[in-house]
Amino acid sequence: NHLAEKLRAASLGAENSLFLHNHQTGEEVSYKAFFANAERMAQALVDAGVKPGDRVAVQAPKTQAMLELYVATVLAGGVFLPLNTAYTASEITYFLTDAKPWIFVCDPKCEDELSTVAKDAGVAQVLTIGADEGGSLPERRDAAAPGFTPAPRGPDDLAAILYTSGTTGRSKGAMLTHRALASNAQTLKDSWHFSADDVLIHALPIFHTHGLFVATNITLLAGSSCIFMSKFDADDILGYMPDATVLMGVPTFYVRLLETEGLGKASVNMRLFVSGSAPLLAETHDHWRDVTGHAILERYGMTETNMNTSNPYDGDRRAGTVGFPLPGVEVIVTDPATGAPLPQGEIGVLEVRGPNVFAGYWKMPDKTAEELRDNGFFITGDLGRIDTDGYVHIVGRGKDLIISGGYNIYPKEIELVIDDLPGVVESAVIGVPHKDFGEAVLAVIVAQDGVEISAKDVSNMIKDNLARFKQPKRIEFVQALPRNAMGKVQKNVLREAYDGVFQ
Ligand code: ATP
Ligand code: MG
Repeated sequence: NHLAEKLRAASLGAENSLFLHNHQTGEEVSYKAFFANAERMAQALVDAGVKPGDRVAVQAPKTQAMLELYVATVLAGGVFLPLNTAYTASEITYFLTDAKPWIFVCDPKCEDELSTVAKDAGVAQVLTIGADEGGSLPERRDAAAPGFTPAPRGPDDLAAILYTSGTTGRSKGAMLTHRALASNAQTLKDSWHFSADDVLIHALPIFHTHGLFVATNITLLAGSSCIFMSKFDADDILGYMPDATVLMGVPTFYVRLLETEGLGKASVNMRLFVSGSAPLLAETHDHWRDVTGHAILERYGMTETNMNTSNPYDGDRRAGTVGFPLPGVEVIVTDPATGAPLPQGEIGVLEVRGPNVFAGYWKMPDKTAEELRDNGFFITGDLGRIDTDGYVHIVGRGKDLIISGGYNIYPKEIELVIDDLPGVVESAVIGVPHKDFGEAVLAVIVAQDGVEISAKDVSNMIKDNLARFKQPKRIEFVQALPRNAMGKVQKNVLREAYDGVFQ
């Protein structure tokens, strides 16, 4: 059993060392205790009828028991399928119907509602894990026989299906093999110098690749320990920093932490700060370095591929870049129209090949064929370039590229200028159909509370910083940008909303 054996082997010999400090319960869990629980839980899953290849879906609060369920599912040869806790019952209907899991584990608070949903989707059993670490699954775990012989699994077998965040459309199930997860964890552990001495502040959700695979697998593989927090809280994190060595976060973590007092002092003994899942503004990177003396290490990955690139551990961590391809991972830039490789330095679609790449989209053979080439390269859909020093720069998503009057326009460039204006909180720039230009640039802006700012003001302020063809033909103000459950801006929703404004 490729992944489970690998994760467990790492802890052998260090069984009494600490795996996890549970922030909610105050409990300290050793590797020995964690794996004993995971094995019992694996037995409970098998007793409930789970067979190798069966999906085990879960939408539950971030708990130690849910982490045990991840390891237990893999031990039992099953396919772990976590779902965003923000999804509503109707969204859950889609995922359960699509994935047909044998078991669905949910929060006891939602059991009544979701049992009906699960039954309609043909799920055999519904069990629960609650925020307090209780529930029917932990009860079964405690009653199950100890010890468990892992189901045999090979490198090509599936260990998990993770649905993409649904930023550009409906979420797709990415099929992740034992090889993909194990190899990427090993690569990241080595690249970021993780060891048994590390203490990771784990405040990310565990239904997403970042918190589940990057954070958890590396910790287990390195025999490190983690401070396990059910949610992000800037003050709590600051309080833990003196006893920790690494923090992994999304860019908003860093923005929020910079708003606290005492960050400089608390972070003195930290070893590493990692950022990913969304672009980290160069401004945040610089500000963080001023306050803490640490250069945040930005890396780039996605649900389908795990992590692809990383800024160097030793060496220059450059703001606004996502660093170099990880060892064993190839990154190329191709022409979006023809798929042909582009000359060095040009902007095109990033394509990725390596053991980290997924096995295809669950039940979407056409989509898989479109995005996963026969030669093994996965077409990420992200636009980027590689500079002369080899650093990868992401300029946005292919679907968000604006082509106006024959010019390629990258929304990010315009957003950076607008976001810098006084009185602006944030912005999103999109292309909307226009009869003369094909597409026209439209900016959607969120202004600061109580600030009077007009479209004319914005136009005047940006006209010296942007070529005329990049300047928005229309500017709209909104209270908030539409975001999905991962907090990513949904430009497809904006494009629909403003579709007819130039017709
Ligand atoms: P969907 O595929 O359903 O539209 P999604 O692409 O947002 O949703 P994820 O797999 O969670 O789903 O996110 C991966 C994407 O996040 C990448 O393709 C990239 O666009 C973005 N991303 C991740 N890390 C970075 C980073 N460091 N800088 C810029 N963008 C990043
Ligand atoms: Mg995607």
